[in-house]
Amino acid sequence: MKIFYTKAALSKNLKTIKPSKKIGLVPTMGALHKGHLSLIEQSIVDNDHTIVSVFVNPTQFDNVSDLKKYPRTLEEDVNLIKSLNSKVFIFAPEAEDLYGGDVVSRKFNFGAIANEMEGKHRKGHFDGVGTVVSLLLKAVKPTHAYFGEKDFQQLQIVRKLVEIEQIDTTIKGCPIVREQNGIALSSRNKRLTQEQFEAATLISQSLKEAKKLFKTTSINKITNHIKAKFNASSHLELEYFEIANVKTLKTASRKRKGNEYRGFIAAFAGEVRLIDNMALN
Ligand code: AMP
Repeated sequence: MKIFYTKAALSKNLKTIKPSKKIGLVPTMGALHKGHLSLIEQSIVDNDHTIVSVFVNPTQFDNVSDLKKYPRTLEEDVNLIKSLNSKVFIFAPEAEDLYGGDVVSRKFNFGAIANEMEGKHRKGHFDGVGTVVSLLLKAVKPTHAYFGEKDFQQLQIVRKLVEIEQIDTTIKGCPIVREQNGIALSSRNKRLTQEQFEAATLISQSLKEAKKLFKTTSINKITNHIKAKFNASSHLELEYFEIANVKTLKTASRKRKGNEYRGFIAAFAGEVRLIDNMALN
């Protein structure tokens, strides 16, 4: 199992790989779970080499306390990856090394998709994501990079990023992995109390219900119904529920033939912010 802590060490190793070989990159912030492992497994199937980056990116956090409390479990992460496949490389740099100087975001113009949902509620978040993903793609130069639909808006932002920056990497979206009770796996779930964890099932249940209602009920009625359910919850505070067009990510008010829609939720369980989404048609 090889772990690289600097760009220089990674680069030295990458030079030993023949240019004809396929390289898969799986960017993560660590505290790995089965959702991350599904991305790593897909990369192993598709590529000759897989590199998992483990890096808690400070510039994508709009909340200092969230950054401080983000779980950091590198040793466990390494063991988990090792048990999956010992040939996977791990890249776990320090921020100063990855950024090559000041740890600050660049400013991107991702267009309208960056102004919806997460972009609206987490100022500067997508500039931080764009900055770190760009740095990682330039350091690794992978043929493929893997991102979860769990962060659906982020996935669309990354697709836009490679287009804007003309980066020669194919971006692959992978389905959301869920707990048995429906909750989307997330590193942040580790911070939930048992009570909050059980209450958080409302998030995926609401999305499932929205999906069931979608054929027969107006977007407005579904939205009001879901909001009312969150209002009645004593453990969860809804930040947003949106039904949005998959391409534009704009909130939809009416269903239009031929368009695809997803439901998106962000909600707080205490201090822990959880997000989830689901295809509705
Ligand atoms: P994170 O470590 O939270 O930044 O996530 C790293 C990657 O794993 C991102 O592309 C996420 O979308 C993806 N991911 C996180 N949770 C899940 C999940 N439950 N199912 C599938 N992918 C996930």
